[in-house]
Amino acid sequence: MNYEGQICRSPMERGSFMLPVAVGCSHNRCRFCMLFKHLQYRPLPLERVKEEIDRVAALGGNPKRIFLGDGNAFSLPAEHLATVLRWCCQAFPGLQSVSMDAHVKNIRSKTDAQLRALRELKLTDLYLGIECGLEDVLAAQDKGNTLAEAEAEIARLHKAGMEYDAHIMTGICGRGRGQENAAALGAFLNRTKPKRICNFSLFIHKESPLYQDFLSGRFHPADELENLREELALLRRLQGFGCEYDGLHDIVPLRVRGHLPADQDKMCRLLEGTIRRLEAEPGLVKTAIV
Ligand code: SF4
Repeated sequence: MNYEGQICRSPMERGSFMLPVAVGCSHNRCRFCMLFKHLQYRPLPLERVKEEIDRVAALGGNPKRIFLGDGNAFSLPAEHLATVLRWCCQAFPGLQSVSMDAHVKNIRSKTDAQLRALRELKLTDLYLGIECGLEDVLAAQDKGNTLAEAEAEIARLHKAGMEYDAHIMTGICGRGRGQENAAALGAFLNRTKPKRICNFSLFIHKESPLYQDFLSGRFHPADELENLREELALLRRLQGFGCEYDGLHDIVPLRVRGHLPADQDKMCRLLEGTIRRLEAEPGLVKTAIV
C-alpha cells in the first residue's frame, strides 16, 4: 500500500506489521504536534485495507502483532474496526495482538460492550497521548481531554481486558515545572499502570503553534538538562507495576530504555551520568527547537 502522510508509531512497535486504516489525526489540535497538520483526516476505504491484508497474506506474511495507523485510528467506529480486526484474524493465524493510537475521546465514544467485542478480536492495547501530569498544561496545549477523563477511560479499557500504553513528553510543562510534573505524572502512571511508556522529550518545531507561543512569550521552554532531571525524577517515582520504558531525546545522544522495575536503577544511573556530564559542560545544554 502506498503510505500517505507520516509514518508515526512508537519505537516499541518496530516489529509490528503497520497497517494503515486512516489518514491523519481527527483531533489535530495539539499545539506541539506537527505530524498531521498538513493532512485532512479521513478513514481509508475498507476495500483498500482488505487489499493490503490479502497482499501481505499472499506473500506468506503471518505477523504476530499488528499496529493500525494513523494518528488516532481508534477514532474509527467500533464496527469499522471490528471488520478490519476480523479480516486480520482470518488472514493471519499467528496473530496475537493488535494495537493503535487513540485519543481519550475515541474511547469515550465506544460502549463497554463494543470495547469487549474489540478485545475479543485481539485488540490488546491502545497508545494514549498522556503527555504530562498537569491539567493546566494539557488545556494550554489543546490536548482535548483532562487527566481525570483519561483516567476514567483507562479504567474502562482495563475493565474490557485491554492494556494502555502512555506517550509522555518531558519538557512540555515548560521551564521550571519539570519536577512538579515528574511528581504529578509519576502519581498518575502509578495509578493507571501502563504496559509501555514512551517518552519523546519535547522539541519545538518552527512551524508549530507552540513555536508561536514561544515567540510571543506564552511558553518558556526548559532546556534539555532540565528535561533530563525531570525524566530522572519521574523514573525514580515509578513503582507498583511492570512496564517497558523507552525515552528519546533529540539534542542529547541518549536513549533510556529498559523494563521496570528490573532496569530502573540502571536507567537512573544512565540519566545521572548524563546530567553530571551536561552540568560540567554547560555549552552542550540547549533547548530543542528545529
Ligand atoms: S492527538 Fe496525537 S497525533 Fe493528534 S494532534 Fe495530538 S499529538 Fe498529534
